[in-house]
This record gives sequence, structure tokens and C-alpha cells, in this order.
Amino acid sequence: MRTYESFANGPLYADLDIGESIAAPGGSEVKLLAIGYEGSVGKPGCAELGWITVRVGDEHADIPLGWWRTVGGARIAAELNSAYNTDPERKRWERDYWRLEHHARLQLSDASAPLTPACRYAFPITWGAFGGSNWLTKYSGSTGLSPTHEGVDIACPVGAAVVRAVTGGRIVYVGGYNASAEVGGPGVVVSVVGDDGLGYLYAHMSSLDSHLQEGVRIATRDPIGPSGNSGFEHTQITPHLHFEMVWGESEDSLLRVLRPPWHDVSCETLAFRVNPMPYLHQWFEEYLETEDE
Ligand SMILES: [Zn+2]
Repeated sequence: MRTYESFANGPLYADLDIGESIAAPGGSEVKLLAIGYEGSVGKPGCAELGWITVRVGDEHADIPLGWWRTVGGARIAAELNSAYNTDPERKRWERDYWRLEHHARLQLSDASAPLTPACRYAFPITWGAFGGSNWLTKYSGSTGLSPTHEGVDIACPVGAAVVRAVTGGRIVYVGGYNASAEVGGPGVVVSVVGDDGLGYLYAHMSSLDSHLQEGVRIATRDPIGPSGNSGFEHTQITPHLHFEMVWGESEDSLLRVLRPPWHDVSCETLAFRVNPMPYLHQWFEEYLETEDE
């Protein structure tokens, strides 16, 4: 078992093997009983079709990937993912797919406390559509650097909505990337170290709000730029916001993931992307309640 220090009273991240238990925030004892998949284990993409089975006290529950579920007083989300670099023997780009049969990362919090108590949060776009979670799905890149998709895409026509900060923080990277004609790329990118200690990355906006510069503070719901397809102008890919959340053991770790070349995390430095889907579901629900027009 390995745990990762919580950000700003947010969820605790913990890697558990089947059969292991952990005391979740709030005191509930959570035991990982099983991991299930539809599709073939080991293939990128299978992770979005999976679930975990947990026991908390007398309660059992299957929890689909990408959702929070409350079981026996604990709020739990499952994420099949591993840090790049917990095993220094392994090349940093290799992922732990073969370990998914017995190993899952859980996000754990106290169900009686707010999910994200320390900061205000908002859905990252004023209008958009999930095409299902595409967290960890395979995408084709000619560089071969990143075999899986470690964010979630929210589709929206070019210019039809405003991408905005999910929470406050400090801008640590602002960039524009020319797309290669065949493959595409990140396009217009903004990276933020949030006040909650997590990293946030927004990509493919059609342009940038003029106040955005490295070092500048940004508040929850501050505009980042109009929705777009930058990086994919020459492809048939549906315009979308690409959104990432990053956990790092230090700000330096975060910056290695939030700035080009994006994945430069050494074996001595621990950082990993978090599945944003459970958070996006939560923020979207709140968005519908508070901002419905
Ligand atoms: Zn994406």
C-alpha cells in the first residue's frame, strides 16, 4: 500500500492491492475486494470500463471508474492508474497495466465533509459535452511519448463557450503550440498550480484571455479563453477542452508535468495525473444547480 498526502483537506489518494484495507478520512475502514473489467485487461482503454468492489463496515459496493460513491461513511472514487515512477527499475513511460488486475488507486474522503472544502471550484467550461470519459484511452501520437490519454475531453464548438479556471491559483505556464499537420498537439495551453496544491492544465482553446501570463494569479471562474481546437486545426478531431489534474509531491514535481516537455518526471520525483472525471461530475452537478440559465 502507498498513500499520497492529501491536498488542502481534499481526498486521500491510496494505492491498494486486493485484500488490503485502509482507514479513510473520517475513520471508515475501506477494504479493496476486487477489480473488474469489461474488455481485455492490459489494453489501454479497458480502464474506462472498469470498477472496483469495496467493503466498508458491513456494506459492499461496486464503484465504476470515474464516479464518487458513498459507502459506509466514506466517499470513494476508483482510479486505475499508477505513478510513472514509483518503480525506478521501470522506464518512466511504461504504465502499470498488467498490475491493474490486483492494484488500484483509490480516492478517499469523509462523506460527511464537502468534497473539496478548501477552495471554490467550478466546471471548467461554460458549455460542453462529455463524450464519455476518455481518461486513459489510447491515442495515436507519432512521438510515442505518451501512450495514453491522461485527461478528460469536453467537446464544444470553436468559440461557443468560455474555458475558465476550475479553482484559483498561480499560472505557471502559458504557451501556444503549432500543430503538426498529421497528428495535432496541445495547441494553446495554460497550466496552473492551484491553491489546493493540485496542478491544472487546460488545452486547445482558440485563443487566450489577454490577462493570462506566467506568475499571474487566477481566481475560480476567471476566463482562460474561448473554446477551440488549437493543436488540431488540421485534423478531423471534434473541438474540445482537454483538462488535466495533477498530483505532485512538491511544486517542482508539478511543474515537470505542467510545463513542456510535459512528462519529464524523473524516478526521484513523484507526480501523477489524477482522473478528473469524478471531480468533473461533481462540479457539473453544482454547475447545474447554481448556474442554470
Ligand atoms: Zn484530451
